[in-house]
Amino acid sequence: MSLDELNMQIYGCKRCRLWQGAKHGVPGEGPLNAKVMLVGQNPGADEDETGRPFVGRAGKFLTKTLAEYGIKREDVFITNIVKHVSPENRKPFADEVAACLPYLRAQISIIKPKIIVLLGASAKDTPRMEGIEYFEVIHPSAAMRFTNMREKFRQQIAQLAKQLQQN
Ligand code: SF4
Repeated sequence: MSLDELNMQIYGCKRCRLWQGAKHGVPGEGPLNAKVMLVGQNPGADEDETGRPFVGRAGKFLTKTLAEYGIKREDVFITNIVKHVSPENRKPFADEVAACLPYLRAQISIIKPKIIVLLGASAKDTPRMEGIEYFEVIHPSAAMRFTNMREKFRQQIAQLAKQLQQN
């Protein structure tokens, strides 16, 4: 299956209840040959509005921090565990995660990234696949708000940039 076909499935998906309150499905975006995939938990209000991942304040902070360490946003694939916004931005329920994970699994199989960056502990459900390096960082929204976490986040992104140079 192509990424476009997968996106079409996501736009029309009703496998769990989350589509009901959403304006747009947010499959994710990035190049087919991305070496790095970033995975967050779920789209927020800005993402629901635009249909694009990580475009709100936390997304802008993430994009800026990546750029500071030489990683261009347009070179990475960014997505989430679930592809529709949840009511009041609550954490997705386990059955919603289970229903949506086949899409993320398919995205990983199509893109075949070398490194998957888990954005916060909430991305822990990301499928583990052989031959891929997994790299957990602080969620950008927490890094944006708390000074001590921001510093740690920068160190993690610096480490990611170093690993990318070796790949
Ligand atoms: S969150 Fe995932 S499983 Fe649920 S309706 Fe959206 S695309 Fe389908």
